Amino acid sequence: MVSPPTPRPRLLKSLTARLLLGLLAIHAILLPLLFVGLLYIVKQGYQTQFVEQVRSSAYLLASHLSYMDSDKAIAEQLEEALLSGRIVHAQAVLTTGRIIAPNISQTQTHIFHENFAFGEGADTVYFIAAPLLTLNGDIQGVLQLGYDETPTRDQIAFANRRGMILASIYLLLSFALVAFLSPKLTRMQKKLVYQARHDSLTGLPNRNHMQDIIEQEIKIARHHAKPLALILLDLDHFKEINDTLGHDVGDSVLIETASRLHACAPASGIVARLGGDEFSLLVRGDDAIHTLKIADTLSRILQKPFIEGEQSLQIRPSVGIALFPDHGTDFTTLLRRADIAMYEAKRKRSDYIIYDSSIDKHSLRKLTMSTELREALERNELVIYFQPKLDLADNKISSAEVLVRWRHPRMGLISPDEFIPLAEQVGLIDSLTMYVLRLALQQSQAWKIAGTPIKLAVNLSAWNLQNDALPGQINSLLTEFDLPASLLELEITESAIFSDLAHAGEILEQIHATGIELAIDDFGTGYSSLSHLKKLPVSYIKIDKSFVMDMDNNENDSAIVHASINLAKNLGLRVIAEGIEHEQTLTKLKTIGCDLAQGFFISHPLPADDFEKRFLLNKPPRSKLAEQFV
Ligand code: C2E
Ligand code: MG
Ligand code: MG
Repeated sequence: MVSPPTPRPRLLKSLTARLLLGLLAIHAILLPLLFVGLLYIVKQGYQTQFVEQVRSSAYLLASHLSYMDSDKAIAEQLEEALLSGRIVHAQAVLTTGRIIAPNISQTQTHIFHENFAFGEGADTVYFIAAPLLTLNGDIQGVLQLGYDETPTRDQIAFANRRGMILASIYLLLSFALVAFLSPKLTRMQKKLVYQARHDSLTGLPNRNHMQDIIEQEIKIARHHAKPLALILLDLDHFKEINDTLGHDVGDSVLIETASRLHACAPASGIVARLGGDEFSLLVRGDDAIHTLKIADTLSRILQKPFIEGEQSLQIRPSVGIALFPDHGTDFTTLLRRADIAMYEAKRKRSDYIIYDSSIDKHSLRKLTMSTELREALERNELVIYFQPKLDLADNKISSAEVLVRWRHPRMGLISPDEFIPLAEQVGLIDSLTMYVLRLALQQSQAWKIAGTPIKLAVNLSAWNLQNDALPGQINSLLTEFDLPASLLELEITESAIFSDLAHAGEILEQIHATGIELAIDDFGTGYSSLSHLKKLPVSYIKIDKSFVMDMDNNENDSAIVHASINLAKNLGLRVIAEGIEHEQTLTKLKTIGCDLAQGFFISHPLPADDFEKRFLLNKPPRSKLAEQFV
């Protein structure tokens, strides 16, 4: 059993990667812009400040020189200005053409050319000219000064460097933050992805994940021309387990189912829980050739009792199979067809069924029937037939079984085997049972009034035994039709009782207390044990027709019938054999102590009128056969 291929976490990888990339992209575009812009502003600030300071200092010096009354005094002032360090060039050019320069030699010889902006020219000197006025305000010349730009340039360069360092620290911190968070994000996202793709109860891949897996496997199988098999299964009556024993027990059953599936899946198999009680197993490659064997093992393993505390639960899976490429070449078709096969297995009570196109027609019919059943009940399309039970002690018809049929306006007479399971599935079984009981008791009342009372046996479904109101409802009907409880018998299939023995037992006790007799139907098909049987208030066991029909030719069947009769006798129960189709079966049953007999040999189920004419009214016998059973 391999673990399912984990799809590449594309999303996962990209989240961290995208975060980093996004951060990088934002910074690559925005940071340089911001940086350059800020530096530009800082540079402009420094330069403007320099120019303003230079201008005011030059004009101040020029106005100061206006008060100097000799060239010597002016030269001395210029000398002082040079000594301040900021000024690297100073001279006064008078209108007379005379030039007054400081006495100390200037470090560098500069050719004066007035500047208007910072950094103009190839030198690092900002040249400025300020007018030299006389005390009267007349222009006597121009003061030419050169200011050293280097300190301001250094300040700008320093600001640049500081900006660069800050930007780098910012970038580093951002990336460190992402690097710090990314493992956490990755883990968180891995967890989310896992949760989104797995079932939390069993840890198996969920439906979405399984879809991805199957789609992927279909591609691979197509490429290598290999088969694939999709096995789908659900647990019959799982809802009952949940409803009656609680969700904890339901959960344990699902967990146990998952582990049993794992245990019997082949090496290449992938198990998934598609939802509720629905599981799937994908079988790949050469293993797909053995799909039927796998389905068989799987079905057997799941039918082994589930032990829940002191309870032992018998669970039946219904298994449907669809193959790639025979039944579908895409996920949806394969799943739908496996689903159809699974429902067919449920309907036929087969362990597993492989898809066949003829089943599709069935499923359409089934769909039509389930949607029309409610209306059928309202429109009285359901009718009842009566099949007599022959008392082998006196060869008289002692009672009759009530069997429902659906007289469908288009599809004709539909068998209960087809629509009872549907009624159970769509939640109509309680209404249907009450409907049949009402019709049966109405007829029983009519026969009683006519002076030919006969006991009628009505079938109950497993689901009816979940309905606590049932005993009360039956009593009300008996009162309504003024019938004694002795004229009613109820048949309950073996599996119905034993799926929830405690609850079913309580309901049966209440029904039995009113005087209604109970029979266990289809005896031999379930898993009831003697000890269980003893606890139930039943009067009859009805041996299933599958053993009776062929008991003349099949020794095993004959042995089962014998054993069942002996068992019943030991428990003080009476025995009914159903499915008697031949005279010799009847004769044999008589000799081995069977009490009652029912079957086509005696009579097919009949509408009320026919039954009445043949078995209730004192009509002259029409055939040798009828002569026997009056
Ligand atoms: P069941 O209760 O075991 O009824 C006996 C079935 O065996 C009937 O089928 C009957 O027609 C058939 N049968 C009787 N004698 C012979 C025979 O000699 N040979 C063969 N091959 N078959 C024989 P039917 O009427 O189709 O009913 C099938 C099942 O549907 C019943 O099995 C019962 O489980 C269910 N059912 C019928 N009516 C009702 C109903 O009103 N309520 C519920 N819940 N189930 C019903
Ligand atoms: Mg029956
Ligand atoms: Mg039966």
